Amino acid sequence: MKPLLINGIWKETASGIPNINPSDTTDTIDVYSQAGVNETNQAILAAATAFSEWSHTSPQVRHDILSRVAREIFSRKEEIGELLSREEGKILSEGIAETTRAAQIFSFFAGEALRISGEKLASIRPGVEVDITREPVGVVGIITPWNFPIAIPAWKIAPALCYGNTVVMKPAELVPGCSWVIAEALQRAGVPAGVFNLVYGPGSIVGQAMLDNPSVDAITFTGSQATGKRVAESCVKHMRKMQLEMGGKNPLVVLDDADLDVAVDCAINGAFYSTGQRCTASSRLIVTEGIHDRFVEACVEHMNGLNVGHALHKDTQIGPVVDEVQLDQDMRYIDIAHKEGGNLRSGGDVISAATSGFFLRPTLITDTTPMMTINREEVFGPVASVIRARNYEEALDVSNDHEFGLSAGICTQSLKYASHFKRNSQAGMIMVNLPTAGVDYHVPFGGTKKSSYGSREQGSYAIEFFTQVKTSYTAP
Ligand code: NAD
Repeated sequence: MKPLLINGIWKETASGIPNINPSDTTDTIDVYSQAGVNETNQAILAAATAFSEWSHTSPQVRHDILSRVAREIFSRKEEIGELLSREEGKILSEGIAETTRAAQIFSFFAGEALRISGEKLASIRPGVEVDITREPVGVVGIITPWNFPIAIPAWKIAPALCYGNTVVMKPAELVPGCSWVIAEALQRAGVPAGVFNLVYGPGSIVGQAMLDNPSVDAITFTGSQATGKRVAESCVKHMRKMQLEMGGKNPLVVLDDADLDVAVDCAINGAFYSTGQRCTASSRLIVTEGIHDRFVEACVEHMNGLNVGHALHKDTQIGPVVDEVQLDQDMRYIDIAHKEGGNLRSGGDVISAATSGFFLRPTLITDTTPMMTINREEVFGPVASVIRARNYEEALDVSNDHEFGLSAGICTQSLKYASHFKRNSQAGMIMVNLPTAGVDYHVPFGGTKKSSYGSREQGSYAIEFFTQVKTSYTAP
């Protein structure tokens, strides 16, 4: 059984929860210890105790530790990528790519540790000097979802440690394996006891214990909007810093003048790769009249050729849905879309394969209207709907008319429309002739409206959340 990590000590608990492969439910990856409120509070105490020393370490020490973690993850990317695919269900190439990205993130923040700067300004008072510096926030609670088991933990842990914070990390119940790999790599890299702590368990117990503990100075959370609200309420109650990344209902606009092949590639990749289980997935395909029928035909043809199956089989393009609960949710939304008048053009059925997994054929629902449930609520599976629009202006209006604003894309060959879309789309990330999902690791990530709350993640912008600003005045 894999233990928790509290104050630098691996701690096995009396009982554990098995980590099951969604491609083959007879495959148990490992059993993971489960924390309760006590263990979570011990981890928070350890992080609070370690903060004073860690926050004053030389940036060189933090750089070296993060670099070692980056090197270890990169050198083991095939093995870790396979673990990721086994526990989450994305295909092996995606698992390895995500692992590589995690290594790149650690490497990026290893560099950032050496680039923490401040400002010196002239005071309005003669002879007085003003210094503006950045300091770590304290104990950072990290709560993550299951869909990017190594990249999301990496893009929260690496900047937290880089800027001198200590960490208590709680990964999603379905994907304990990848966080354990990071914890082990951090231990091997020489992170001092208490600086990084890992606790497993249900959100309602372990996550809630983190929210309830006043010694947690900041929480960075990625997950559903419903949980995000709970996190926000607790953070307001404790007056602590928070950063929330939540859901999406990302539009991909396809205009008459789009290159059809590019548009179809963007739609298929954005909607169905990683089994559509990406917060940035293109779930609303908003297509103008002149290209609509050709686009739908071409998508359906492409979808018919997609190979759905075991995530580790080499020909598989689309892996399983993460678990039975998510599969039921996907099927329920497909049913609702059908009942509300949508036309099930492709997929919608569960595939029986050689192994007992949760295989859903990528699903395209056409003839939908913007206010149908399928276009209002996040499904989080390989399900996309098509909305017909009269022209660009209507497509833009429909794309913006949503409570979420994470990512939005447009396929067009017109510079005029591409430029207008970049300025007027209300999402936090805009893609022109690219899938709505798939981002670089060194630039800011985040959305608008109810998709995100707080400052941006990733790249040099991460400093906003993981540090606080101090202004010092010195008289001559
Ligand atoms: P979720 O909200 O169910 O769980 C997220 C995390 O919160 C888990 O670790 C869970 O254990 C924890 N949690 C649950 N209840 C809690 C509580 N009461 N207190 C504290 N923590 C609690 O989300 P999920 O199903 O794991 O992930 C899917 C969601 O994540 C989707 O909505 C998706 O869009 C979103 N997501 C967003 C981004 C982004 O960057 N915007 C990225 C990936 C996923």
